[in-house]
Amino acid sequence: MFILKTIDELKSYRNSLENKTIGFVPTMGALHKGHLSLISKSKEQNDVSIVSIFVNPTQFGENEDFSKYPRNINKDLELCKISGVSAVFLPSTEELYPSSDEVILIPPKNLTNKFEGSLRDGHFSGVLRVVLKFFNLIKPHNAYFGKKDAQQLLIIKKMVNDLFLDINIIGCPILRDSNNLALSSRNIYLDSTAYNKALQIPKAIEGVSKAVLGKEINARVIEKIALKELKELDVDYCNVVDLNLDSIEVIKEKESLLLIAVRIDNTRLLDNFWF
Ligand code: AMP
Repeated sequence: MFILKTIDELKSYRNSLENKTIGFVPTMGALHKGHLSLISKSKEQNDVSIVSIFVNPTQFGENEDFSKYPRNINKDLELCKISGVSAVFLPSTEELYPSSDEVILIPPKNLTNKFEGSLRDGHFSGVLRVVLKFFNLIKPHNAYFGKKDAQQLLIIKKMVNDLFLDINIIGCPILRDSNNLALSSRNIYLDSTAYNKALQIPKAIEGVSKAVLGKEINARVIEKIALKELKELDVDYCNVVDLNLDSIEVIKEKESLLLIAVRIDNTRLLDNFWF
């Protein structure tokens, strides 16, 4: 496995790949099985799989956890190696953001004026900046993102479409732990009391899943079913929307999703259900 720490190293590695198909998995490290499932999908579908590990400062707000975001590079590299990753890109902030006054990207209003976008000012602009830089440097054919970050996935798809980028964006299913809590690098912030509270989120998802199997299609009823399970938590949002993130009355298969975000102590947890 190649460990590429500079843009020059990445470029010469990339030039050596010639006609190979390249899969790319961007991450912020603190890797878990969710990340590994993206890597595994990339390995299945490409000759070469490149993973980036970079805690991107431009997507964190001033009062967010950038400095204490979990970092464990040695363990991450070991996991990448075991998973058969071809190369890991570990750029420095200085090299990735050489100018303090650079071209920035503004995501579309309708996808950012709600949910994570309205609660985390500038977050998606920072995500698009770093992802576009990676796309331009790595030039992947396929890039893998988790459905867990549903709004992010939809905004990245929109960027690729609007800017005519020749990259397939592949959304991958949410990986969960043995208690069905969605895996997240931030789960390590949860002590056992907080973790037990967090299990109300997968209960809400299970309730919704059952209701849908029972042919429930009314979006408001589905939200109520989820909220009933979340009643002891600080819920930021729990809404059924379409793929433009607009509220809907009736769910449609493959065209609707339930988005959930809750706060437990100082940790925000996201989950969702794609109908
Ligand atoms: P992060 O390191 O948190 O930026 O996540 C890197 C990628 O892994 C993103 O595309 C996430 O959506 C994805 N991801 C994070 N958690 C999960 C999970 N539990 N299941 C599937 N994908 C995930």
